Amino acid sequence: MKRFLLVFTLIASSLALADEGMYPISEIHKLNLKKLGFLISQKDLYNPNGVSLLDAIVNVGGCSGSFISKDGLVITNHHCVFGAVQAISTKENDYITDGFLAATRDKEVPARGLVIRITESYKDVSKEVLSVVTPNMPLADRTRAINKKMQEIAEAVEKANPGKQAQVSEMFAGRNYVLFVYQRIRDVRLVYVPQRSIGEFAGENDNWVWPRHTGDFSFVRAYVAKDGTPAEYSADNVAYQPKKFLKVNPNGVDDGDFVFILGYPGRTFRHQPAAYIAYDETFRLKFTADLYEWQIATMEAAGKGDRAVAIKHDARIKGLANTMKNFQGKLTGLKRLRLAEGKQAEEEMLQKFIEADAKRKEVYGTVLADINAVYAEMSATAPREMVLDAFGGLAGQAFSTAAAVLGAAIERAKPDDQRMAPWKDANVKGTIEGRKRAFRDYYEPTDRAFFKDMLQRALALPEGNRIAGLAEVVGADVETFVAAAYANTILTKPDSLEAAFAMTEAQVQASNDNFIRLAWALRPAAEELRETRARRTGALNRLLALYVEVKEQFVGKDFIPDANSTLRLTYGRIKGYSPSDATYYSPITTLKGVLEKTTGEEPYNTPPALLEAAQKQRDAKFMHKKLNDIPVAILYNTDTTGGNSGSAVMNAKGELVGVNFDRAYHATINDYAWSDSYSRSIAVDIRYVLWVTKYVGNAGFILKEIGVE
Ligand code: ASP
Repeated sequence: MKRFLLVFTLIASSLALADEGMYPISEIHKLNLKKLGFLISQKDLYNPNGVSLLDAIVNVGGCSGSFISKDGLVITNHHCVFGAVQAISTKENDYITDGFLAATRDKEVPARGLVIRITESYKDVSKEVLSVVTPNMPLADRTRAINKKMQEIAEAVEKANPGKQAQVSEMFAGRNYVLFVYQRIRDVRLVYVPQRSIGEFAGENDNWVWPRHTGDFSFVRAYVAKDGTPAEYSADNVAYQPKKFLKVNPNGVDDGDFVFILGYPGRTFRHQPAAYIAYDETFRLKFTADLYEWQIATMEAAGKGDRAVAIKHDARIKGLANTMKNFQGKLTGLKRLRLAEGKQAEEEMLQKFIEADAKRKEVYGTVLADINAVYAEMSATAPREMVLDAFGGLAGQAFSTAAAVLGAAIERAKPDDQRMAPWKDANVKGTIEGRKRAFRDYYEPTDRAFFKDMLQRALALPEGNRIAGLAEVVGADVETFVAAAYANTILTKPDSLEAAFAMTEAQVQASNDNFIRLAWALRPAAEELRETRARRTGALNRLLALYVEVKEQFVGKDFIPDANSTLRLTYGRIKGYSPSDATYYSPITTLKGVLEKTTGEEPYNTPPALLEAAQKQRDAKFMHKKLNDIPVAILYNTDTTGGNSGSAVMNAKGELVGVNFDRAYHATINDYAWSDSYSRSIAVDIRYVLWVTKYVGNAGFILKEIGVE
């Protein structure tokens, strides 16, 4: 019994530790800020009735960012605006390679696709959301009812508050739901983006790696209509005046200093069961990493020797490569730490805990077994489901357009209020415009290769996982089917898209366009999968609520919800780490390291302007005194994930000292389990940002605007 208790306590403490991290706004008041190292009060951090640091924090296009001037200047990452820079780049004006600088406000250009969101308020709506659940309702209905209620709550708020965006976020499945109201700024413009060879120095080789020497920062500006309300781009718009902007501290931080981060972490899976991790490890991560690797190689080969073609692929390669390496890191970490096994052992203890009490056993006795049964079912059909998912966006743009044409035909036959958002009357035009714009980067040879490859994967699925009807549509020879598809389609011609999206379901069914025929043939399988998933989600929604509940009893503490793209606080210290035996990495890199890595060859082709500045401009103001050099990047043990890219890293006083952009390779596993031994995040040091902006970008006026000079 004693031994049992000891193991119990050990597991309990490891579970507790793993929950440290990303505090939602609603939890901030529970923290003893002073004891943790903050030199600011609760009110400075979050003040629902006044102004606080939280008002300076934004979500920018899925990344994070912060206001740093009274005129709506936002600092975020270079990689967060990369797509917007690609959109204005041509072979002649290659802003990706050369960087972009608007020397005056009227030269700031729209950052295509970037929207800024500011959290205005939050409210717990769990009771309301869960009021639609009845004990014996079919599981798929449970999922639909919850989703519908979440949407209704948000829509009612948006209706009552024109111009605002509302969203209900699931904090704990089946248990906690929070309504967030956002201000949404749609006119965002590029101000200064350094050269790729600074913003992405060392490229993919150094991505997810420490030590790091990448200047991953950029500046954009928020604009609104003259009356201060958010508006689409217009030359008449004026710079947005944020409620709060961060003070930039050019003195930075040092090893051991306290730091904290406010931002919008995307997703973590800490409260998921062992079966979830095992599924990810066996299927999702591996399939995705392998597919991305092949697609990246295909795109790189297509762009070799032709910069115009390469530009078309740049942003996509970057996005896929980022995820691929992250997933590879996770796979390595999962194996190394035997995380799924560890979690399974915990669950065995949890089961014992459940069974030790008759009442507990009655409520939670079969929870773990029921969860495992859902995952066993998912695993049996995983190969087929992953291919079906991949047809959704990884089988080329021509096919994805065909699938959208079919979706539009089905949706547009319904009454307006029952359609999916993109196909409501008010949005149709915008949706089609977006589809047309996407063809800007279309390159048929790549598209064709992706399409053919996906067909081959689908046709090669093992017995029991095959997609009914597929082989019949494709016919005897994939090559012939693919060739005919591209030769006889209007779907790859943007000017024809209006006509394509006006097709009725009957016209779609009768079409002899091979992409559309395939979309039609895959429809039953896709619909069946949607229904299966709704049922599984319904089951897990109920089971995971019980799972978390009993785990909390086991551990004797309430958990912090997993990241879900809502605003979070995390804190820690500047700290080195030891990734393997006999190695230790210190937590601050310097300009010296940039020069050491520079070879002149991509991706180590530091621009001449930086090399010159490195010789002539080691401005004492931006020096790290002990290291006697300009600091470039910093490492710390806060808890971050994707979406925290661009987050403000602040010192104890809440002043900006860095911009978060990545994690160390071993910390990719952080999404499943946090540990002080390997969880390390990376920021570009504010001193490097300021030094590059002033001496390499010749944009000293930005330093004046943010009050540093
Ligand atoms: N580099 C990451 C990203 O792309 C940030 C992170 O996941 O830590 O989102």
